[in-house]
Amino acid sequence: FSSVELTQHLLDRIQQLDANYNSFISVTGEQALSDARRADSQLGNGEGGPLTGIPIAHKDIFCTEGVRTSCGSRMLDNFVPPYNATVVSQLAAAGTVSLGKTNMDEFAMGSSNENSYYGAAKNPWNTSLVPGGSSGGSAAAVAAGLVPAATGTDTGGSIRQPAAFCGITGLKPTYGRVSRLGIVAYASSLDQAGPMARTAEDCALLLNAMAGHDAGDSTSTVREVPDYSADLERPLEGLRIGLPKEYFGDGLDAATGQCIQAALRELESLGASLVEVALPNSALTIPTYYIIAPAEASTNLSRYDGVRYGHRCADPVDLHDLYTRTREEGFGDEVKRRILVGTYALSAGYYDAYYKKAQQARRLIRDDFLACFEDVDIIAGPTTPGPAFGIGEKSNDPVAMYLEDVYTLAVNLAGLPGMSLPAGFVNDRPVGLQLIGRHFDEARLLNVGHRFQ
Ligand code: GLN
Repeated sequence: FSSVELTQHLLDRIQQLDANYNSFISVTGEQALSDARRADSQLGNGEGGPLTGIPIAHKDIFCTEGVRTSCGSRMLDNFVPPYNATVVSQLAAAGTVSLGKTNMDEFAMGSSNENSYYGAAKNPWNTSLVPGGSSGGSAAAVAAGLVPAATGTDTGGSIRQPAAFCGITGLKPTYGRVSRLGIVAYASSLDQAGPMARTAEDCALLLNAMAGHDAGDSTSTVREVPDYSADLERPLEGLRIGLPKEYFGDGLDAATGQCIQAALRELESLGASLVEVALPNSALTIPTYYIIAPAEASTNLSRYDGVRYGHRCADPVDLHDLYTRTREEGFGDEVKRRILVGTYALSAGYYDAYYKKAQQARRLIRDDFLACFEDVDIIAGPTTPGPAFGIGEKSNDPVAMYLEDVYTLAVNLAGLPGMSLPAGFVNDRPVGLQLIGRHFDEARLLNVGHRFQ
């Protein structure tokens, strides 16, 4: 079948089914069909590559030229960027057809998608459950078969956690592997974009198009991009997998732990060896992240002032009124909470006690991982402490919500690549196995992840 047929089929499915999932914020059907026609004519001429004509969707955090980019916020509800994020351009250049923009927690702050100005996205396995967040719309759309693959971003787990909750595969690359240009900034030293799809093989195809140096992002790395599809079949004999004892202790749901152990035994039967390792500073992870991420967010979000773009309050009486009412109206509760925490942590007098301490703890957390990687090739454990929870179950308890991130945050603090794979089910809810690799060793994660399709 042609790309136009496939695109039309998925647009019809979105129209019929997405009222149940709320996974899309914007659907760009006409643009998609015209891109699909172009892809079909390329394919007809024997041109194009493996992604030519393949429909995808972008998390609504990626700037898309001429298409509203809300970031899940009232603040950007009217924002139509004049340019594409580098990732969007790269995937378009590879021939993909974007069907639209997916739902997300406001400014990527959240673990359940309940913080979206456009309403919660739902988990397709059971619509009374959250799909995870913040890239919950992308995960739900892939899980519901509305699109074969989507982009996400991950600052502290936002690709891996929704991938786990929705039973799909999601990869957060090494910090610097993928350009951040044109991605609405949350915490700039942690943010990274990556692919979400059914399988590691599909993620490899997407990462081939997404990775690479971008002169427009000074933190993107000048480093050759390997062919991530090339090593998928490499045998696992001799692979050493480290299991951090801190990731299998109290706090991990027992049935989820058994599911993870069963997946690990599969890898062992394929020739890998399982080795216990230690990440002794794991207990510092949540407090460290929840200082650094809000601190960076509070400065990044200072640009939303009602002057340049985005929401502006009606009839301001003076400049101060413009700033305060615009921000009061434009930001939701969780975003305001992060701005308050971040501003406090950065204020003179508290800087040494909080931000500087958090930076020191960040280094200890990173060094723990580097020490493990002297002995093992990858680290494995659960992506989340348990399977998806109910909509509304944790939305009034920020600390309970932050605890959901206990196994994902350290990967961002250390800048490492991490991946979540569908490992089975507990009470009909998907469970994610997390793999963590050495810096720039995405190929290894994909190689192991390929065993899960
Ligand atoms: N749940 C984490 C937070 O709210 C991570 C979000 C993310 O990775 N964007 O900050």
